[in-house]
Amino acid sequence: MNETDEDKSWQMLSNCLGVDPDLFFPERGASTKDAKAVCQGCIVREDCLEYALTNREKFGIWGGLSERERRRIRRERAQARARTAQPQTA
Ligand code: SF4
Repeated sequence: MNETDEDKSWQMLSNCLGVDPDLFFPERGASTKDAKAVCQGCIVREDCLEYALTNREKFGIWGGLSERERRRIRRERAQARARTAQPQTA
């Protein structure tokens, strides 16, 4: 499925609908607290996070997580995949 085919209907249920998008793309070093506060309790938070992880969104707050926090998740998932892909030695 390419990005244009992807179901993004979850965005219509987001807490950030109608919120200034700049809040979610703070300047480098600026606080992410206000954006994360909007994400707190957002019912589509998981969809949002998975979308960002799948599409390797490099900037902004998605699913309540910063770029750095998403990079950590991607790294952990890659390590987990590598571990399960390794042949078992007895
Ligand atoms: S979790 Fe995603 S969709 Fe929900 S408020 Fe945050 S940025 Fe918006």
